[in-house]
Amino acid sequence: MDYQKLAEILFPDVTDTPEMLEERFPARNAPEGAVITRMAPSPTGFVHLGNLVQGLTSERMAHQSGGVLFLRVEDTDAKREVPGAVEVLINTLKHYGIQFDEGATIDGDAGTYGPYRQRQRAGIYHVYAKKLVSEGKAYPCFCTEEQLAAMRETQEANKETTGYYGKYAMWRDRSMEEIQEQLAAGNPWVLRFRSTGSIENQFKFDDVVKGKLTITENDVDHVLLKSDGIPTYHFAHAVDDHLMRTTHVVRGDEWLPTLPFHIQLFNALGFKLPKYVHIGPLMKMDGTSKRKLSKRKDPELALTFYKAEGFPVAAVYEYIMTLLNSNYEDWRRANPDAPATDFKFSPKKLNPAGNLFDYAKLTDVSKNVISKMNAEEVYTLLLEWAKEFDADFAEKLSADKDYAVSILAIGRGGKKPRKDIAVWKEAKPYMGLFFDDYLQKPVFDEKFDKGIIRTVLEKFLSVYDPADDSGMWFDKVKAITEEIGFTTDMKAYKADPDAFPGTVADVSTFIRQAVTGQTNSPDLYTVMQILGKERSLERINTVLKSI
Ligand code: GLU
Repeated sequence: MDYQKLAEILFPDVTDTPEMLEERFPARNAPEGAVITRMAPSPTGFVHLGNLVQGLTSERMAHQSGGVLFLRVEDTDAKREVPGAVEVLINTLKHYGIQFDEGATIDGDAGTYGPYRQRQRAGIYHVYAKKLVSEGKAYPCFCTEEQLAAMRETQEANKETTGYYGKYAMWRDRSMEEIQEQLAAGNPWVLRFRSTGSIENQFKFDDVVKGKLTITENDVDHVLLKSDGIPTYHFAHAVDDHLMRTTHVVRGDEWLPTLPFHIQLFNALGFKLPKYVHIGPLMKMDGTSKRKLSKRKDPELALTFYKAEGFPVAAVYEYIMTLLNSNYEDWRRANPDAPATDFKFSPKKLNPAGNLFDYAKLTDVSKNVISKMNAEEVYTLLLEWAKEFDADFAEKLSADKDYAVSILAIGRGGKKPRKDIAVWKEAKPYMGLFFDDYLQKPVFDEKFDKGIIRTVLEKFLSVYDPADDSGMWFDKVKAITEEIGFTTDMKAYKADPDAFPGTVADVSTFIRQAVTGQTNSPDLYTVMQILGKERSLERINTVLKSI
């Protein structure tokens, strides 16, 4: 077989050579040990936690080593493409602190190793396709869907592995005449790789995350180019990661089964194999067993979910870091205020089996992260969230910034800051009592006579003085307690509750409910200071009228 001739027949328009491409995309001028890596998502518009895990891993590896992180859009599957998906992807990842140094941008490219959208690279793939054909390493296959289906049926009936291999590789060794006949008839073809591997052979391979693996060779003649000339993932992966000078391929471990084929391809093309960083899946507990997070079943897989709930970016980032590197939490305890990027990230510490996603833990991390922010920061992030997800609340927050900030300042700072808010969604219920529109009507404990509650409130109205400090304020509450025959001695009360009609805690609750509508609130003295005398007393008066 004259492979050179076959290559000319199949790719008459290809005039570039691999040498020309090598020259156009020369080795990068990167410092020793610099990691050049990429994210290569399909533009489906769905950005999920897995993307973030992969993104953070590659971003840290690249930027920690003085390397490059670039974005390549794998748009070879036009059916799955969603308009605007690239923009969503770039913006979402940027929101989480992942910035690309190079690659596809919202409306074009930045960098000299492009184009970075695979559909624009068809000509480049064909150069290598032609080379492989000319060396007898790839061949056209004219099998129809029906033939392939029949092949699969036979293999299933014989309990054999399914696929285009060995004796089933119908077009592997056809004559030039047969091929030309098909071409003349205008029949569609795909380009297949001629595998020289055997499943009898195994070899050792070192993956950055999975460690030492024993891998069985591939014997399947996989498709390199589809009938429209667009490459499969495998072929594009080899060509692109070579020409873009990727040193590390960070990707999901669902690609592990086709790794033997990828290794073959790099060898056949004469490319140096990059290092592989295969990341395990994100799982969750479902009852007592673990399962992979699923797009269909788990809304928490989508990154938009965290934005809508109102998790601050820093919290999600922090949590993912604790998942990826088990020593991150210890580092954080030792360096509570250091930027997360100071941490020495190691891809080797990733759990090869993947990670268990724990929503409760994320919530805890988030509470911590928010508790460390100052009131101004909280205000800014909360307002940003509310503008998108709760316009009415956003209006209230912006109407009087100082007021909102003073509410958010309650219990902040100091050694043991309050941890009331885990997500911005919780801010409204927490702060609602400060806004008349969100105020709830108090529901007093029926065990107490309305007359007693009324007396307490009336007495309190007559003695309240905003100039009092919190000690004096509480002394007044205690005085009222004694005047109505309740006790201030909580110890005695606990020893014999039936001996007392009520306590100072009950009296405080009556006042708290009248002022805030709730039985729980931040420190009542402080709440009243923020509300101001007029508004506090007006609220108590309103309640008095209603009971
Ligand atoms: N488009 C592939 C994916 O989203 C890329 C895998 C890779 O990073 O090579 O799974």
